[in-house]
Amino acid sequence: MGVHGLWEILSPASEVSVPLTTLRGQTVAVDLSAWIMEFTGVAAPPGKHYLMNRSLFYRTTSLLGMGVKLVFVLDGRAPDIKEAALLDRQEAQTGSTASVNLDRPGLKVANSQCVEMLRCLGVPCIQSPGEAEAMCAYLNKAGLVNGCFTEDGDFFLYGGKTLYKNIQKNGKTYMADKYTDVSIDNKLGLGQNDLLALGLLLGCDYDKEGVRGVGTKKGLDLVKHFKDKGLDALDRLKGWAANKTLDELEQRLATPVKANSHCTLCSHLGKSTSHTRLGCTVCETDTGCQPGSKLCPCQACLNKLIEHENKLELTIRRKALDMKPAFPNMKIVQEFTMGTRTCMVTSSALELSNVHFENLIKCLNSTLRWDRAEALKNIVPFLIQYEMHRNGNEGKMFSPTRIVGKCKDNHTSCLEVEWDKTDVNTWAGESHATGVKVKVTRELLTLRYPALVEKYEEDQVKRPPKGSRKGKITAEIPGQTTLHQFFAIKKKKLDFSS
Ligand SMILES: [Zn+2]
Ligand SMILES: [Zn+2]
Ligand SMILES: [Zn+2]
Repeated sequence: MGVHGLWEILSPASEVSVPLTTLRGQTVAVDLSAWIMEFTGVAAPPGKHYLMNRSLFYRTTSLLGMGVKLVFVLDGRAPDIKEAALLDRQEAQTGSTASVNLDRPGLKVANSQCVEMLRCLGVPCIQSPGEAEAMCAYLNKAGLVNGCFTEDGDFFLYGGKTLYKNIQKNGKTYMADKYTDVSIDNKLGLGQNDLLALGLLLGCDYDKEGVRGVGTKKGLDLVKHFKDKGLDALDRLKGWAANKTLDELEQRLATPVKANSHCTLCSHLGKSTSHTRLGCTVCETDTGCQPGSKLCPCQACLNKLIEHENKLELTIRRKALDMKPAFPNMKIVQEFTMGTRTCMVTSSALELSNVHFENLIKCLNSTLRWDRAEALKNIVPFLIQYEMHRNGNEGKMFSPTRIVGKCKDNHTSCLEVEWDKTDVNTWAGESHATGVKVKVTRELLTLRYPALVEKYEEDQVKRPPKGSRKGKITAEIPGQTTLHQFFAIKKKKLDFSS
């Protein structure tokens, strides 16, 4: 997937294991296919929908719960030039060599299942006319999202700016590796056109082979060679076929030159014995030589110099010009550089909306086989956190009853809060969503419920300090375990069936 060897090239520019809580308040696009592939091992897996939906539910609600605004982007029709890559993928996955449908019907089935759940969660899903990572890059470049979750480095070839990949869970903390166009430029000296040039040289989704014999080292050396000469890598490749200067250099090097003997002392034409006696014209001496004073201007030495400076480019160019279709394939260049393939998106289409509570419960029942009690156990803590991050307090399903204690989440000051349901109608006949303890950041709670936090602070000051109090409070702070215990108890006592 993507440019061959790209991550190997880019890894020195990455910031590893960034806690995703740092994305709080940001809007981040998700390349849905990349997550589906990650959750299931293959795209559109028959029989793996359960696994995919469960992973999608947990990761999505966790990120939304920490205040990250997600926008899912769906793959549209694959570009025509991707046919060969899709054929390969199909053969690797199913053994079938039948022609591929660029509309990706299999992926659409998997997508639609995910989209149903995401819509219930109030998360926007938008359709890319082509590759999802192209749309993600477009949204990022246009400033409509702050970054993108994808495993596909083509994102940077499409002009994207901030990418998060390799999402890991460390305890309860989600981490990911962060790559930005700025750090790639600062640390590696590679801009979008350089990456595009590498894509053409090394091979990518749209040209599986690249230029024969060019691996990451040679590719990077060539791009660096262009940089040293002050040339734009992509423009240089585009102009290769018509470059008369390079043709001449190549011809010159191909013409054999008689190798005359050179002085072992100054490396200029002539013999050292003769130079010692009569001097050297290049060194401009009457007797002896001046080693290191000047380069030898003879044809053979000039050719050696030209060869040293241009051999890499001339060799790769020769191979590239023999390729069919002609190198560089302009369809590939256009795919990466024509933002017009992506449609217009307004920022309002990227806003989160309210959770469709009953639909979500139904959806979780059909996709994950969760009964109402199980679904509620998993969504109530999320709903509380999610509501906190949405603006205002209107129409909230929960409100805080008391602050239980203080805690830290990744160096962020948090408060453990007990919540009660507000909307009795939604919860008719369900007395369980009471006294749920959920951790929220102190900053957010102060913003939404200033009086509650103020009262808590006052009480803290009033209470006489006890030697063991601090330790006790920490011990009382429950994490998910307490919440699970809470539900385990409630589940026994109550009948959740509706
Ligand atoms: Zn000499
Ligand atoms: Zn000399
Ligand atoms: Zn010479």
